[in-house]
Amino acid sequence: MVNTASVKQYGLYVDGEWIETKKEMNVLDKYTQETAAKVSVAEKHHVDQAVQGAKQALKTSFSPYTRYEVLMKVAELLVARKEEFAQVLAIEVGKPIRESRGEVERAAQTLQLSAEEAKRIHGDGVPVESAAGSENRMAFTVRVPVGVIAAITPFNVPLNLVCHKIGPALAAGNTVVLKPAEVTPICALKLAALFQEAGLPTGRLQIVTGDGEQIGTWLLDNPDVNMFTFTGSPRVGELIRSKAGLRKVALELGNNSATVVHSDANIEQAASLISQKSFNNAGQVCISVQRVYVHQEVYTTFIEKLKEKTQQLVVGNPMSEETDIGPMIRLKEVERVDAWVQEAKSQGAIIEVGGKANGSFYAPTILTNVKDNMKVCRQEIFGPVVAVAIYTEIDEVIARVNDSEYGLQAGLFTNDLSFAMKAAREIEVGGLIVNDASAYRVDHMPYGGVKNSGSGKEGPKYAIEEMTEERIIVLNL
Ligand code: NAD
Repeated sequence: MVNTASVKQYGLYVDGEWIETKKEMNVLDKYTQETAAKVSVAEKHHVDQAVQGAKQALKTSFSPYTRYEVLMKVAELLVARKEEFAQVLAIEVGKPIRESRGEVERAAQTLQLSAEEAKRIHGDGVPVESAAGSENRMAFTVRVPVGVIAAITPFNVPLNLVCHKIGPALAAGNTVVLKPAEVTPICALKLAALFQEAGLPTGRLQIVTGDGEQIGTWLLDNPDVNMFTFTGSPRVGELIRSKAGLRKVALELGNNSATVVHSDANIEQAASLISQKSFNNAGQVCISVQRVYVHQEVYTTFIEKLKEKTQQLVVGNPMSEETDIGPMIRLKEVERVDAWVQEAKSQGAIIEVGGKANGSFYAPTILTNVKDNMKVCRQEIFGPVVAVAIYTEIDEVIARVNDSEYGLQAGLFTNDLSFAMKAAREIEVGGLIVNDASAYRVDHMPYGGVKNSGSGKEGPKYAIEEMTEERIIVLNL
């Protein structure tokens, strides 16, 4: 039963106005599967209006210091409303409340970092005078905004990843048209209200909600969009890249993250961190640990500890303080994950823990006796499943980690400096985390992958480089 009194309505945010459209979509509470909110679905003219509004807003003044002030103010408002935003995350994503609070805190930090960067966007001096015939010239570069940026974001971290787009884009003087994931748009819309309250100039931020493919097509067809910044699946990332033409594109895509546990590692620490970082947000994290390679000498000890720690995880209502693992985003994702696990089992994998679906939940699952070519190892599972394999040689394990179409981050537990340095040189990823699992991120580090994990970096300082153009100014004296 839908309790209509508690169902909130959200409109589009276009040119500083909240627009309710005729067509709406339901946003489900991922735990109860009831409708939690109704959100407007944009038509083509709304998307065009948002892009035009964003283009016009580029002409209005928004100084770096004012950008700093607005972004800091939104961060402050977000901290003040932490519990309210955390509860929305717990409802729309199904993310456990403790983890949801962490996301709100990080989102506020991402905005603060963006605010700070707004004050230090700079170019370089260029010694043109050292070229023969240019003795009377001087030159320097400035970084200018790219213009209208279309930002398209995924369901799994719908507040902080939105801040990773909006924060740097606004800090760099751009305007943004945001298309949040259709299953989790509420946090982004509530965030827009905070920007409005903080005095963001009209038109700098526009939010259009609705079907991804449809809105994506309208944005891609609109020549006034200057750049696309996308976080999501490789399939959609590739499509955006192919349709964006000569425009700038930044892509943060998937991964089947590997973590290596070497013979000299602290096994207690490794098992503890891997059990957390395989199952956070029900494994729906792009750097979630999916493949673990354990040295044969420590395999038995490691697997026993990992099983013990995983069995202690509490699966349940995301609103409960006790819960470690909530529901998955969609029932069909639960079915897909289970099908992959059952397929692995039929090919010889052993289900050590879990391996069961229960409504919108999938039990945290450990597989052993896996082969590298099984789907659970080769493709991105994006669910609470970790596949553990044994290795004997360092060169062998590096080759197995690299035998992937992805390359976002990897983890390595070892105290052997030469192994760590060899891995730093040879593992093909955007980030290698030594003595932690692959899923380590703080918001100011450069974050982004190689191979099918994408191109371009996030982290406000690095995203600003993507979201600005370098212009050279040459003075002839
Ligand atoms: P998704 O690709 O299905 O959707 C992402 C966004 O794209 C959504 O807003 C969706 O509406 C939109 N979209 C869908 N079809 C589109 C189209 N044809 N044109 C334009 N936009 C379209 O991804 P998801 O299921 O929301 O998220 C999971 C994926 O995101 C995983 O692969 C995960 O690894 C990846 N991810 C990557 C990072 C990172 O930083 N590298 C972070 C989080 C998630």
